[in-house]
Amino acid sequence: MTAEDSVVYFNLNTDCEATAPAVADAALGKRATQGLAAILDAEGWRGSFFVIPTDVEAHGALYQELAKSGHEVGLHIHPAAQGYAEFCGLYGPETQEKIISEAAERFAQVMGEPPQGFSMGYASANDYTYPILVKLGFTHGMCSKPGRILPECASVWAGAPLFMHYANAHNRILPGTLDFVEIPVTIDWESRMWGGKHPQDLRIELVDAKNHYYTIEKSLQRQIAEKIPVKLINACTHNLFEYNDPGDFRRETLEGVIVHAKNITAKCGYQIAGRTLQEIAQLYVQRVPKEETKLELDRRGYLK
Ligand SMILES: [Zn+2]
Repeated sequence: MTAEDSVVYFNLNTDCEATAPAVADAALGKRATQGLAAILDAEGWRGSFFVIPTDVEAHGALYQELAKSGHEVGLHIHPAAQGYAEFCGLYGPETQEKIISEAAERFAQVMGEPPQGFSMGYASANDYTYPILVKLGFTHGMCSKPGRILPECASVWAGAPLFMHYANAHNRILPGTLDFVEIPVTIDWESRMWGGKHPQDLRIELVDAKNHYYTIEKSLQRQIAEKIPVKLINACTHNLFEYNDPGDFRRETLEGVIVHAKNITAKCGYQIAGRTLQEIAQLYVQRVPKEETKLELDRRGYLK
């Protein structure tokens, strides 16, 4: 193992959407975001906050401060919060570009610069989405949820890669050569939830810390076995819970996940570092050359 390969990275990415019409509680969003940042700061870690336009407009000073202190602030999209229908993956390229660019402009008005990191609401995307993100200057983020089959949300990712990869210009579930590093949330690929439509993932509020333990351990062991070049435990949440309250169940779950991530990483002989997705994506670009995906028909079962 080389020195640079001795680290497992940890990211907590938070979709900040407390001002979305379904929630409409800006004060809760602020408390949650502050609580999450404090938990990461106590570890000496940095995390990623993906913010819908109305959240960044409501609490501009907070997100500017987070960016200044080394956390990542990127863009999160919920088309319904901008006056469109709910799911981005139902739209053609012109409308998707309009939705995302409008949101990016509002973000830049507050943050002083355009977003580079991106997180798609409901992971609702289609084959037009990645090239649009590249065109608009995004370099990394999360559109996918490997294993999810939710056509009712235009969010179908069966067969998508489990780990970090360059997105494909033509097919959202294949790796490709776009200048966009897709960084999927950590999942247990053998589990099914929501009536069989979604795998258990490392979304803090989905289950308790005990359940998350097994997902973290299983994913890390597979990444080690497959010699994944940048190993990552990728957890996600939303700024919709009382993360600043030490007695809150979701906060206890997150703290449990952090303890588990540290212990499992140490047990496997690695160090752990909590970093932003931007830093992790940059590391991936340094280490991993792009390679065109070639598909070949599997003829092993053919008689002739
Ligand atoms: Zn969201």
